[in-house]
Amino acid sequence: MQVFTQKEEIKSFTADQRKRNHSIAFVPTMGALHSGHISLIQIAKANADIGICSIFVNPTQFNNPQDLQNYPRMVDRDIKMLEERGCDAVFVPAVEVVYPPGLDTGIELDLGTLDKVMEGKFRPGHFKGMLQVVKRLLDLVEPDLLIMGQKDFQQYTLVRHMINQLNLPVRLIIGATLREADGLAMSSRNLRLSPEMRKNAIAIYKNLTYLKENLYKTKLDLLISHAFMDLEKSGLQTEYLEIVDDQSLESVMDPKKHENLVACIAAWAGNVRLIDNLCIKGSCD
Ligand code: AMP
Repeated sequence: MQVFTQKEEIKSFTADQRKRNHSIAFVPTMGALHSGHISLIQIAKANADIGICSIFVNPTQFNNPQDLQNYPRMVDRDIKMLEERGCDAVFVPAVEVVYPPGLDTGIELDLGTLDKVMEGKFRPGHFKGMLQVVKRLLDLVEPDLLIMGQKDFQQYTLVRHMINQLNLPVRLIIGATLREADGLAMSSRNLRLSPEMRKNAIAIYKNLTYLKENLYKTKLDLLISHAFMDLEKSGLQTEYLEIVDDQSLESVMDPKKHENLVACIAAWAGNVRLIDNLCIKGSCD
């Protein structure tokens, strides 16, 4: 596996692959890799000749400086893991490579309400920073395919919106959320959970499945407040718990009126903020 840190290196690698008519699939990450990330690399390899992963903790998508500082970093271990799993190349740029002084990497897009709801409400500026880095990495890597996880469903929706609106020449593929045996969605942030909070965190997936199983059994607002209370009882502090339309991300009142629905939760387990979601009606990809 090749490891690149410079713009010129990744550009010349991908140019060479294109000359050989090799298709390229790209998996952007912030590192501290787990099996969820690896499953995206496997999707990349199954759908293209070459799989490239990036590891970059993007400062512009953190609205909270403490969160940025606490974000787990273990690049050497990540590189070893990627090598063992058959990734072809990894791009590990410094901040100055992604955002060279003087280069305008900002993007102007009409996002409607997509970046105002859920995560957008609690992490102002997060999605602008996320789209900025995804666009910049796409410019550097120029992949045919971009693989992103359902785990960050709102992120996936916004990236799809950006690709459509800017007419970017890349196909987006969604990867299913990988979970621990007890249902907790794999996340780099799980490393920071205390043993007690690790146990409490199971309530997130438990309540997502509860919402799915009971969708038509009782009124939506009762269902939601029941799940809300259960999360509190489990020692978590819920930021939001919403059932949204998979396209508009707007909260729904009547599940029958929508083809596909996603239940989304963000909750604090101690000082660790966790998010998860589940497609509870239709297919949400
Ligand atoms: P991150 O490093 O957290 O920015 O995530 C990089 C990519 O991995 C994103 O597309 C995430 O949605 C995806 N991802 C994160 N956790 C999981 C998971 N448990 N299963 C599948 N994909 C995931």
